[in-house]
Amino acid sequence: MTDGQRITAIIGLDDTDHPEAGCTTHSFDSLLRTISDSNMFEVTERRLVRLWPFASRRTRGNGALSAIVKINSDSAVELEELCGKWFDELALSISKHPDEGIPASPCLVISYRNPPESWYWDSVRDQVDLEKRKSEASEFGLKIFSLGEGWGIIGASAAISWMPNQDSSWELVAWRDEVKVGTNRDVSQESVIEMAEKHPETFLNRDPTKGKGMIAPRTPCPVLYGIRGSTCEAVSEAHKWMQEREDVERSSSWAPHRTNQLSDDHLAGICSGTVIMPPSEGRGAHTNLSVISGGCTRQLVVFKEGGHVNRLVRQLNTGDRISWLGLESPDGSIHLERVSVQSAVPRISSRPSCCGRTMRSAGRGQPLRCLLCGENSEKFWMSKPWSPSGVSSISGWYEPTPSQRRHLAKPLNHGIPS
Ligand SMILES: [Zn+2]
Repeated sequence: MTDGQRITAIIGLDDTDHPEAGCTTHSFDSLLRTISDSNMFEVTERRLVRLWPFASRRTRGNGALSAIVKINSDSAVELEELCGKWFDELALSISKHPDEGIPASPCLVISYRNPPESWYWDSVRDQVDLEKRKSEASEFGLKIFSLGEGWGIIGASAAISWMPNQDSSWELVAWRDEVKVGTNRDVSQESVIEMAEKHPETFLNRDPTKGKGMIAPRTPCPVLYGIRGSTCEAVSEAHKWMQEREDVERSSSWAPHRTNQLSDDHLAGICSGTVIMPPSEGRGAHTNLSVISGGCTRQLVVFKEGGHVNRLVRQLNTGDRISWLGLESPDGSIHLERVSVQSAVPRISSRPSCCGRTMRSAGRGQPLRCLLCGENSEKFWMSKPWSPSGVSSISGWYEPTPSQRRHLAKPLNHGIPS
């Protein structure tokens, strides 16, 4: 080794998954362990970045990975050789994936300077054109290893261009022993409940409305669990606490990742509009709502799993003014993630009453009449201020239950939209 200057390399990886085999977090862990074990490089931070939820090639959650690695300025060649060798082995293992489904199309990138941040924003908010990103990446001078069409470059380049801030959250990912993959995970409900109590800086551990844990995936992937929280220390401490319990499976390896989860980065901001017709139920029991906003008609959609958001939207009426946070899907409809009612039109309850009974209309152009005493009244409706039923709210905003929210969505108890 020479006493060359220390420099930073950013490494990104995506699209190594197959629905029945592999997991990008696990692949990346093996690469970073290889890098650390070489004793030439120091991995100082791992990052897990969630991207545009409607991306056509997304895997569950659409996550990509990156890591900050400190290297000597004259050892870039060694780093690239090591990465290249690892990537060849990855390609070999991918060639053994089951045939069905979309084949993995991995890409590993290395950069020695900060890439344009627009790569991240374009990838978290919208569809990215593969060829365009490929040419931007090679023009920028990324070192690129890719297989097949190299779809992974979109996520890998986005993951290295994300600039975290002090609000970014953390997820500690723990992986399983290889021989256990595909078997039931041994993570008891009690352990998750107690962990949430003893480690209050962790969050989204459970969905109390469904009484189920949210840390362990249900797919046959190598992940044992992911613990989310506000700091690296909080998730690491919670993991160590879990690993000392009898009712929790031992993990084979683990690592905290800084993430863009709960950032709302996928959303462009609050919109407001007026409901122009009563909500209708669409296919698959989702609810459609037509609103006019900024002079344009927009279709809002809530899925039946949307909990309070769905229940509220079903009770809306023509003329109600609402605000929302949502994501435009490729078909132009907006999938609601949070909603609040700014002002509701009065809900008509009945005609006025007389002699203990509701007055009746005596016909077109005629007044209301009491059928008992014959008293007449001008025609009008009784109304009452509206309060939606079956929903509870934080400061007027409604959100789906925890297990139905996107990884990127900021829960209302982490901040009211503004
Ligand atoms: Zn009367």
